[in-house]
Amino acid sequence: MNVPLLDLKLQYETIREECLKVTEEIYDSQYFILGPRVDALETEISRYCDTDYAVGVSSGTDALLLSLMAAGIGPGDRVITTPYTFFATAGAIARTGAIPVFADIETDTYNISPGDIAAVLDRMPIAERKTVRAVIPVHLYGQCAEMEPILKIARENGWQVIEDAAQAIGSEYRGKRAGAMGDFGCFSFFPSKNLGGFGDGGIVTTNSRELYDMLAILRVHGGHPKYYHKFIGGNFRLDAIQAAIVSIKLKYLDEWMAARQENARRYRQMFAAAALGDRVKCPAEKQDRHIYNQFVIELPEKRDELRTFLLEKGVGNEIYYPVPLHLQDCFDYLGHKAGDFPASEYAANHTLAIPIFPELTEDQQSYVVEQIKTFFN
Ligand SMILES: *Cc1c(COP(=O)(O)O)cnc(C)c1O
Repeated sequence: MNVPLLDLKLQYETIREECLKVTEEIYDSQYFILGPRVDALETEISRYCDTDYAVGVSSGTDALLLSLMAAGIGPGDRVITTPYTFFATAGAIARTGAIPVFADIETDTYNISPGDIAAVLDRMPIAERKTVRAVIPVHLYGQCAEMEPILKIARENGWQVIEDAAQAIGSEYRGKRAGAMGDFGCFSFFPSKNLGGFGDGGIVTTNSRELYDMLAILRVHGGHPKYYHKFIGGNFRLDAIQAAIVSIKLKYLDEWMAARQENARRYRQMFAAAALGDRVKCPAEKQDRHIYNQFVIELPEKRDELRTFLLEKGVGNEIYYPVPLHLQDCFDYLGHKAGDFPASEYAANHTLAIPIFPELTEDQQSYVVEQIKTFFN
């Protein structure tokens, strides 16, 4: 049996006609960038995420970079984040000229640990502590970070909070939607995200009119009015085609999310029945509305061998992420070494994402669990 990690073609079949129709309309209009379709998506997303505003942008990476720019972060500043995330989170910080400061993760959810943020802060010389301007919690795999204590530390220190919600559209923390808790919420429409376009795209949410204005101005090179520049922004514009496709998919997002949650529930049952003991740990579901962008199992032993075995048996899987960011060559200048963030390093070495996409069948799931059982027995 072949079980891909993700099969976008199955989903496309169900919305094919709608997508072709809208694409044709856009071709006929020859109106490709920003405009009414992007405006419409911004309204729909701000409603879905329960925020006052949203600004469509060119990617999730650019959502982060634009938010940092709108927050006025640059050389001399420091921004706290997790080393166990997709590269863009820390990459965007460094690209503004600011210094990424890492805090380790919780061992169960893999999200940034509020306790470790406090510990990192305690260890900093006073002069450095004053340069910390923001924190970027990442809602990894579709589950919100522990936001309440993070927001508290941020408020006490006057930091901006930029939620990296690229994997978490629609997920919740104590009744609040991802992207509605911090100063900025950054989302990605990369095709493999729960709400993906037909190319690159992203969006930033905010509840602040001032930040919204700044985001909108910086999105078009900082010109306001056009060709008059108080600020240096960039080209962070979203295409009409991406906006239109994402608008179509948004109508089905909750249905697809429910299917992911059902698949997660079924995996838990199947793994329990397989009696694998501590050899396979299912992901911790601690927050209200885990949207399961990924279903990531933890394997105290033989992760890499299992990965190879599953690929041989036709089961797609992936390691998110094999090298924590503090150990990436490009961040050598930060002076970290192996052992600095043990929970992140453990996660990088012992976790594996297995298929969870909405159209995954029960038979496919049984096959996946069966293969894992065979491997360990
Ligand atoms: C996907 C992702 C991004 C970047 O989004 P792109 O649209 O690919 O630029 C940023 N952060 C996290 C956590 C992501 O998963």
